[in-house]
Parts: sequence; structure tokens; C-alpha cells
Amino acid sequence: MMSTINAILSLLQGCNSMKRLHKIQAVVLVNGYQGNPAISEKLLNFCAISISGSLVYAQLLFNQITNPQISAWNSMIRGFSQSPTALDSILYYNRMMFEGQCRPDNFTFSFLLKACEKAKVEKKCRETHGLIIRSGYGEDVIVCTNLMRSYAGNASIKTAQLVFDRMTEKDLVSWNALISCYSQAGLHEETIKLYSRMRTLDVGVDAFTLVSLLSSCAHVGALDFGVEMHRFANENGFRDNLFVGNALIDMYAKCGNLEGARHVFSSMRRWDIFTWNSMIVGLGVHGHGEEAIVLFNRMLATNIHPNSVTFLGLLCGCSHQGLVEEGVQYFHIMTSHFNLKPDIKHYGCIVDLYGRSGKLEKALEIIRSLPTGDDPVLWRTLLGACKIHKNVEIGQIAMSNLVRLESVNAGDCILLGGIYGEAGDQEGVARMRKFIRSQRIKTSPGWSWIEVDNKVHRFVVDDKSHAVSAEIYAKLKEVICQANQVGYVEGESLIPVLPCSSTEWSENLGSYHSEKLAIAFGLSRTLHGTRLRIVKNLRVCKDCHSFTKFVSKAFNREIIVRDRVRFHHFRNGLCSCKDYW
Ligand code: ZN
Ligand code: ZN
Repeated sequence: MMSTINAILSLLQGCNSMKRLHKIQAVVLVNGYQGNPAISEKLLNFCAISISGSLVYAQLLFNQITNPQISAWNSMIRGFSQSPTALDSILYYNRMMFEGQCRPDNFTFSFLLKACEKAKVEKKCRETHGLIIRSGYGEDVIVCTNLMRSYAGNASIKTAQLVFDRMTEKDLVSWNALISCYSQAGLHEETIKLYSRMRTLDVGVDAFTLVSLLSSCAHVGALDFGVEMHRFANENGFRDNLFVGNALIDMYAKCGNLEGARHVFSSMRRWDIFTWNSMIVGLGVHGHGEEAIVLFNRMLATNIHPNSVTFLGLLCGCSHQGLVEEGVQYFHIMTSHFNLKPDIKHYGCIVDLYGRSGKLEKALEIIRSLPTGDDPVLWRTLLGACKIHKNVEIGQIAMSNLVRLESVNAGDCILLGGIYGEAGDQEGVARMRKFIRSQRIKTSPGWSWIEVDNKVHRFVVDDKSHAVSAEIYAKLKEVICQANQVGYVEGESLIPVLPCSSTEWSENLGSYHSEKLAIAFGLSRTLHGTRLRIVKNLRVCKDCHSFTKFVSKAFNREIIVRDRVRFHHFRNGLCSCKDYW
């Protein structure tokens, strides 16, 4: 009998499909071993964890167990914690506690916390925290690491940090968890700062750490720090790591260093879909449409199937380089050849593509024919195109739709006001002004990041919080003065639309946008000839764009600005976007 049981257990060990599982189960039934606890738990374990999509079957098996032990409960709690219905994991836990036969162990807590993170139930996370302490698992490094992740996943990053601080034993896994908590919460400057703390403690660094850190570098445009990570990766055996390589391409491209991205790409030994996508998207946002197409064809030649991100990169590149025909062609191929459904971002690219090239009617047609209904982003893109091509009529259509969708922002009003202003329609300008006042339209705060001496500095409008604020303002005065001498006229491109009550407007009336402060700081703190790299969370305004162009000329500096959607490479008084953004 023992040998048959062992034979069944070893069959289960090698089981990798539901079909085989059913066969094994037949053997179990024929031999009458369905009541054997070792076998039923193993079966359950395989259904709930090993073979995805068989949770329903796992439930059936579970219900047949007369007196489930903790490992059986854990299988269910774990299985559901990774499923789309993570809440069921919590229900199983509650049921276990209610029945009172088993006490939760470190595995139970870890899986339950994962479920709390996934199902976004902070209350349960707090409740579990209390029980963890009472059950004596307060010092368990795995449980505490999952507790941190669960708090961070429920937007309680401060509590996550507290849990981390109180941990007596911190290993690389817990450090990585903390780093990814900060990175995923969008606290990228803090993420980078954590690394220096981590280095002093000698806990080591692995690929996971590097990927999280590189992702934060990419977000804030911290190129120097990213380069340092690159060097570290090469020196510590991560040169051929696919994940690190992909993260490096993304970091270089997002930090505005396309050469760096190309170099990493070509020196990699293996490429997966993420590698190709990082490079194609990188080329796309930098406006290198033709090169993106070449790469796309190379990718197809290596038998890697494109996905919707690949097409986003291609369309973006075509749009920024004015390759209308090619862009439209790829948009169609996407569905006809690769069976991929375009989403709102792809439609955004097509509207942008037509809009840039002046085919505003065509862009309008696309938005109106959208199978999923229209979206404010598309109307906003069209409005931007109307501003460039000075089209009052379609601009008004775009605005009325933004009003209908209740998502007008101050930027939209500035755009339409600008269109009226350029058409000499003073009544229209007055109407916009009145509209903004009556609707109490708010602006989202703008900020800019610049990395100087391996440290990321962040500025908001009229920022006075920086330690050397006085120096920055003095420098800015000088910079404006020198830019004036090569032709810059401050605020000339601003059309008076918004009333003073709006932040964006009051800043337009003689105050300083965040990128101007970042540029002044960069100029005063870097050696002559150093490229300045700035990341801005909103669209660059016309005045700042013009300012940056003249500064690049007056100071003979290359300035790279990444705004909400694209890169601007300023050099010798010109911008790579050719003033279309
Ligand atoms: Zn500005
Ligand atoms: Zn530009």
C-alpha cells in the first residue's frame, strides 16, 4: 500500500497539466485513496497553485477534505491571492478562523497579505498586522516584507516604511521590497536616495534592485545615476541579464540619451519583446520614425511577434516625423496582420498624425468614428493641432466636445484663446476669459526635474524652497538678459486669456515656470558645454519653449526637455520638434 501511495505522490510531482491530473485522480479513486490526507493535499496543492486556471477544481477537492489541515487552507488562500478574485482568498482565511481548527502560520499571513494588496483592502491589512504581532510573527522577515508590500500597495507608504524600520533583520529581499514600494508609489527621488542607504549596509544588490532603480531614474531623468547603475551592473555580473538590459534601454531613452539606448541594445546577447519595444518606443518618442520602422522589420525577421506597445512606438515615431502614409499603414496592419485591437493611445497617435500634417477633417472623422466612443485626450490632441494650423472652426468643435465630456482644463482654454487671438477675434478671447471665470477652472501643478551632481532637484512654479533659491533667481535674471540679447522676448508668445485668479495665468503674468528655474540652476551649477536634461510633467508652454531655444543659442548649450509626451532637443536656437508639439 505504501508503495502505491508513494508512486501516486511521485506521479503528482511530475504532473504539469489538468489532463494528467485527471488520469492520476482516476488511479487514486480505483485504489480507494481519496481519503488519504497526503494525497488529497498534494492534489489540492497542484490545482490551487501549480496549474493555473484550476481554482474551481481546487475548490471541489477542498470541499471533499473532511478535516482540512493548515497546509490545505494555505493552498486555497495562496491560490486565490494570485487570482483575479483575490477577495476569495480573504474569505477562505475568514472561514478558517471561524472554524477554529487551525492556527494561521507564516505562510498563511504572507498569502493573506498578498490578497489584501491585490484586492486593495487596507482595513484587512491593518487587522492582519495586529494578529501577526499577537501570534508572534512580528519578527518574521518574510511576513514583515509582505506586510510592507501590502501597506504600500494600499497607498500607505509611511506605514510600510515604519514596518521596515522596525524589522530587526533586513535582507536583500526586504530592501528590494521597500525600493519597489517607493518606486511603484511614484516616489522616485526617495527610491534613488534609498540606494545610498542600502549600499552602506552591505546587503548586496541583485537584478531586481537594479531594475527598480533604473525605472526610477527613467521617471525623473536621472541620467548620471543611471549611468552609475550601468557601470555597476557591468562590473557585478549583470552584463548579460535580460531584465537589466531592457531596463537600461528604457532608462537611456527616457533620459534623452538615445545613443546610450542604442549601445545597450546592440551589445545585448538576447532580445525579447520588451527589449525590442523599449528600443522602438524610445526611437518613437524621440521622433526617429524611420529608424523605428527599420527596427520593427528587423524584429519581424527574428520571428518575434509585435504587441500593441510596439505599434504605439511605431505610430508615435511616424507622427513626430510626419510620416503620414506609413503611420496610417501601420495602424491598419496592426489589426489586419497581427490581430491587435488599437486602444485609445493608438487612436491618439493617428489623430496626432493627421493633425500635425494639417489634415484636421480627417482627424475629426477618426474621433467621430471611434467604436468605443470619444475621449477627452483625443479632442485635446485635435485642439492642439487646430492651434498650430490656426483653425478656429474645428478648434471650437473640439472645445465643445471637451465641455460635453466635462473635462476642460486651463490648458485647453489657453489653446482656444490662442486660436481666437491669432485670428484677431477679440470677442472670442473675451468669451474664453469669461468662460474660465464662470467655470472656476483649475490647473494641475507643473514641476520640473533636473539632475545635477548625481542629485535630482525638483522645482515648481515660482519655487523658493530650494536651498540656494537666491542664487537661482539671480542667475535666472542674468539668463533672461542674455537670451534677450539674442532675440528672446519674455512672454511675447502668451496670449492674455486667463484671469489672474488662475495659478497658471498668474504665473504667466511675470512669474517663472518650473523649467526656467531648472535651466537657471543647471546653467549655474554645471561646467560650460554640459548638456542639460530636464523632465517636465506637463506640456511645455510656448514662452518656455521659445526661452529654451534662445538660451541654447546664447549659452551654446544643448538642452533636452522631456515633457508629458515627447522630447525636445534644443540646440543652437532650434528645437528638434520644429516648434510643433
Ligand atoms: Zn512655461
Ligand atoms: Zn520643441
